Amino acid sequence: MPSEREFIDASHLLAIPGFVNCHSHSPDNMTRGMTGDMPLELWSLTSSAAREKRDLREIYVSTMLGAIEMILSGTTAVLDHVRISPDVDLDSLDAVAAAWKDSGMRVVIAPIVSDKSVVDTLPFEPGDFSEGQDLSSYGRRQPLPPAEQMRIVEEFYNRWNGQSEGRISVAIGPSGPQRCSDALLLAAGEFSERHNAILHTHALETRLQREMGFKLYRRGVVAHLNELGLLTPRTNLVHSIWLEPGDIEIIAAADASVVHNPVSNARLGSGYCPIPDLLESGVRIGLGTDSACCNDSANLLETVKWTALLHNLRSDNEERWIGPGNALRLGTSGGANVIGLSGVGRIEPGYSADITFFRLQNPAFKPLHDPTRQLVLSENGRAIDRVMINGRIAVSDGRCTNIDASAIWDEAQAIADRRRIDGASAHVAANALEQPIRKMRSRYGKLWAEGCSCH
Ligand SMILES: [Zn+2]
Repeated sequence: MPSEREFIDASHLLAIPGFVNCHSHSPDNMTRGMTGDMPLELWSLTSSAAREKRDLREIYVSTMLGAIEMILSGTTAVLDHVRISPDVDLDSLDAVAAAWKDSGMRVVIAPIVSDKSVVDTLPFEPGDFSEGQDLSSYGRRQPLPPAEQMRIVEEFYNRWNGQSEGRISVAIGPSGPQRCSDALLLAAGEFSERHNAILHTHALETRLQREMGFKLYRRGVVAHLNELGLLTPRTNLVHSIWLEPGDIEIIAAADASVVHNPVSNARLGSGYCPIPDLLESGVRIGLGTDSACCNDSANLLETVKWTALLHNLRSDNEERWIGPGNALRLGTSGGANVIGLSGVGRIEPGYSADITFFRLQNPAFKPLHDPTRQLVLSENGRAIDRVMINGRIAVSDGRCTNIDASAIWDEAQAIADRRRIDGASAHVAANALEQPIRKMRSRYGKLWAEGCSCH
């Protein structure tokens, strides 16, 4: 805690617990605005190519871009699902952690591990590829051995977990079950158990991922994870859209949690996560923004509003609607619980002082009838006056106090200008998979339209 006391006159302010963003990817912050309107499997070709081979300063700047955006929009804690391309490495992870340390934010860093080539993670058939197609430049590269990836994450954990007055913690982030061998998933589960750390993984984001699960496991993805013993109270299933009948009961029985990313799911056309059903079954839920290239904002208040309203479209029974109060709870204390932050997410004695203050002298609160409803449905971050993290002021008068935001933005623009020229060859390589993915999608599209079961 700060040694000197500062008194804040909050008589014209609304104080809430800082938002908790349970799913973001800091390396993607440099790719904002680069990806068009397309479904995940095609979208990921562009986004992954744009992320390749960054130097350490670029990784630091990319992380800092997200920190600035989140702090200014009232988010005080985040889970950063960090994908270092092409392979996870310690220096790059250190650059990410150094940025979070400098930002003053609270963070759970979950390095992504995966050990499958891209072409082995999607339900291709041989006919999807053109004759003699050379995929050697993209999609068939040998990943780093699983043991080496886990050794790097272990070393990173030893260096950073609990650092910066406990603001930084380290988790493990398998990219997705279909992108990892069972051996790697089990190693991640062992890491999670030994360190009591969060295991954070994408799961069932798209229909094709569901199909790939049946192809690989001859059963649903959730059933497979459960069979491996990987569903625990430490497990975050990010997205959880294409669940099988019975999956919600399995998730609830294991007390695993779900991270809901409604804006990203709409942006990529992925589908609806059955939030009302999950809540009714007692499943713990947190909210995430996902990437700067599939949302394309890191403003959690916007995600809270989508959560409050989106599911009204799925039920004409208003008793099952989420509403602003529940959505705000998921975006604060609910999220903190999901990503393992005890003592965070409430304004109460004994809790960390992570607080966002909104000016009541603002259109959103005029006239004031219901602060929660008006915060979620009428405000968008414009009224933020100050943000406190761990008892320290991180935003004052709408400006970051720990970060020179203008300098970071200038540097990011210079990097982007340089990369636009260097990045051309990566995009050409990524395009090698575009037509095979389009063929695969249309093949499954026909099966779905005909109502056939693929398994
Ligand atoms: Zn994601």
